[in-house]
Amino acid sequence: MKNVVLLGSTGSIGTSTLKVAGDLPDQIRLVGLAAGNNTELLLQQTRKHQPAAISITDPAKAKELRDTLGTACEVFSGDEGLLKLATLPAADIVLIAIVGTAGLQPALAAIRAGKDIAVASKEILVMAGETVMSEARQHGVKVLAVDSEHSAIFQCLDGKPPSSVRNLWLTASGGPFRDKTIWPKEKFPEITVERALKHPSWVMGRKITIDSATLFNKGLEMIEARWLFDIEMARVKVVVHPQSIVHSMVEFVDGSILAQLSTPDMCLPIQYALTYPARAGSDRVQTNFAKIGSLTFEEPDIERFPSLNLARRAGEAGGTLPAVLNAVNEVAVEAFCNRKISFPEISEMVRHVMDAHRVAEHPTLEQIIAADAWARIEAARHLNS
Ligand code: MG
Repeated sequence: MKNVVLLGSTGSIGTSTLKVAGDLPDQIRLVGLAAGNNTELLLQQTRKHQPAAISITDPAKAKELRDTLGTACEVFSGDEGLLKLATLPAADIVLIAIVGTAGLQPALAAIRAGKDIAVASKEILVMAGETVMSEARQHGVKVLAVDSEHSAIFQCLDGKPPSSVRNLWLTASGGPFRDKTIWPKEKFPEITVERALKHPSWVMGRKITIDSATLFNKGLEMIEARWLFDIEMARVKVVVHPQSIVHSMVEFVDGSILAQLSTPDMCLPIQYALTYPARAGSDRVQTNFAKIGSLTFEEPDIERFPSLNLARRAGEAGGTLPAVLNAVNEVAVEAFCNRKISFPEISEMVRHVMDAHRVAEHPTLEQIIAADAWARIEAARHLNS
């Protein structure tokens, strides 16, 4: 039995995690749930899964929940609530699925409290991969990936050291604008928010769906992989695979390649992270190769999708540059969704602020957070100019 704390229980990864927990009541117990502002869903989840503690951002809403739930469950709020849950004595593993930078402090707190962490929030490894992995090594805890690509690589690596790897191959669906004949570069300024939100193979939150359309999602995943598997950027490759059946691959030094495949369903990597090293039986995911027919691969188009090279540059430079890339991208996606900038301007804005940044090497958490704040101000200024 694994005792799990879930930070971000009402989001897309959170609700999938609750499905997985519902499938495996003898193997997964949810001891803590934290949500942003969806009080109603959190209450529903709490009644069903009966965690020992929950947390919600707004203290007033926490009071309402306390009044409703009585003494059955401890109710916390705010950033402090997240830290309380991340260090809950009963927890074996903390799954962090909060969007944005709010997951960073709870992740480190969990590690320092000796908990394994499962990471769904990209920001944690993108911004502070070096710090998080070195703290995890010091405290002897595992950092498990919930992202389908990193889960695939983790499964294929199966404990082999970085020296046995020639390349990691992250697969990318290519997003809704993959086809050059339908979406040549000249047409990119015409891309609307509505069109960008239609993803061909995965159903996900809004930010990550736009990131999948720009391929910034893959860029962030390249940086995550670099830290998670201790493989320098030059050995982290991307190949476009529109069917999203091969979730990623490891090419070993002898030329042999292992891949992990399945019909796309986030429940699978979530379940693997929470039951690792065991494999739990589940009928949820079924893959029919005859029906799929063919698996195809192509080179990513770096002309139309400059995000990949920006991410490679940030990952190679390291220090505070990945945090800057991440922060500006967040501001730019928001601006695109509010129709303030065009689709190609998302990566132009990221490049512009990255060019202006003075990188601090081996940064402290404070320096990382400061670089994030600086980048957001710079991005806002660029937006208003
Ligand atoms: Mg992914």
